[in-house]
Amino acid sequence: MTTRTVALTLNAGSSSLKFGLFDIAAGPVEMASGLVESIGGQPRLRAEFGAAAAPVTRDLTGAEAADHHGALATALDVLRAQFPEARAGVVGHRVVHGGPGFTEPVEITPSVMAELRRLSPFAPIHQPHNLAGIEAAQAAFPEAMQVACFDTAFHRSHPKVNDVFALPREYYDKGVRRYGFHGLSYDYISGELARIAPLIHDGRVIVAHLGNGASMCGMVGGRSIASTMGFTALDGLPMGTRTGQIDPGVIFYLVQQEGLSIDEVRQLFYTKSGLLGLSGLSNDMRTLEAAGTVEANEAIDYFVFRIRRELGGLAAALGGLDALVFCGGIGENSRLIRERVCEDMAWIGLELDRERNTRNDTVISTDMSRARIMVVPTNEELVIARAARRLSAAPA
Ligand code: ADP
Repeated sequence: MTTRTVALTLNAGSSSLKFGLFDIAAGPVEMASGLVESIGGQPRLRAEFGAAAAPVTRDLTGAEAADHHGALATALDVLRAQFPEARAGVVGHRVVHGGPGFTEPVEITPSVMAELRRLSPFAPIHQPHNLAGIEAAQAAFPEAMQVACFDTAFHRSHPKVNDVFALPREYYDKGVRRYGFHGLSYDYISGELARIAPLIHDGRVIVAHLGNGASMCGMVGGRSIASTMGFTALDGLPMGTRTGQIDPGVIFYLVQQEGLSIDEVRQLFYTKSGLLGLSGLSNDMRTLEAAGTVEANEAIDYFVFRIRRELGGLAAALGGLDALVFCGGIGENSRLIRERVCEDMAWIGLELDRERNTRNDTVISTDMSRARIMVVPTNEELVIARAARRLSAAPA
């Protein structure tokens, strides 16, 4: 059988492993994508193969995905059964934190790995899982090139004023900076705008990545100028279970007056707050839109309010606005949220066309709207696959 060299992409979260398989000779073109979730609990696997085959959904035994190594091995079994001719020449990893130093994807050498470990305290909830995914892939494919793609890298073009906190200067030097995240998504959107709307790409654009994690990014000429996330992926917009922006004084109060430990506050802010905390019902926007309870509506109101506030702030940072782009699970699918975000925004140049919005068109503003409103589905895996292809094709 002739072999086909492919790129595998991995996005290792705390209890999940998302994977993608790409034909790199052809593009890269996606061959398969999927997810192992509830690793260490009652794991489940889902894999899709485009038009090539029916999707696979399987409940796994605890032993099949006790950790990231097991999850990867199980995912690879499913991929190999479907594509026996595929040989992974390169594995691309989503890595949440690249610190101040990593401004673009890199091959993971032992010294890069050591540096990524050193950055773990900056993202203690995410980075160790990303590294576990890398180690699992190195063990599974010792011959393959491993490539790291960073969520922070796209934002390293921030001017310094958007990179600092008003702390004594020594903390900046120690790495306490406004990094920004979701960079792979913004990178993809920037590239798509260059392809489908070059004039917009060259202008002042705000991208709202609204998923379970949510943030916004202000770009000029396709480069990040400011974003709503900061030192961690906790800042900015409220999210499924994360607070978003919060007065740090609340932390002192919770610790000193309510007797919470720092770990309890962290748990509270990351896993029990946001849409879930406010609604008391769910972190899932579909559930909240359908619920119609006072609490669910208040959670939606707060989400929309913060997006609108950040929209005004980012537009000021950009010196005006040529387009607003929605992406992420909520941005790409929720007509209601898009409509509410754009309501009475003519003052900033945004006029939504309700019919286009209902149809989920790519351009959902009216023809008269001064700034364009767009829906552009994001694809972080493709950004990783492109980087993996580029680096593995580069001469050593
Ligand atoms: P993640 O950040 O985990 O990648 P996604 O980008 O997949 O998350 O977004 C998940 C969110 O998108 C959930 O809140 C989900 O309810 C929401 N969503 C997906 N489809 C719809 C829809 N049709 N209407 C409203 N919200 C939706």
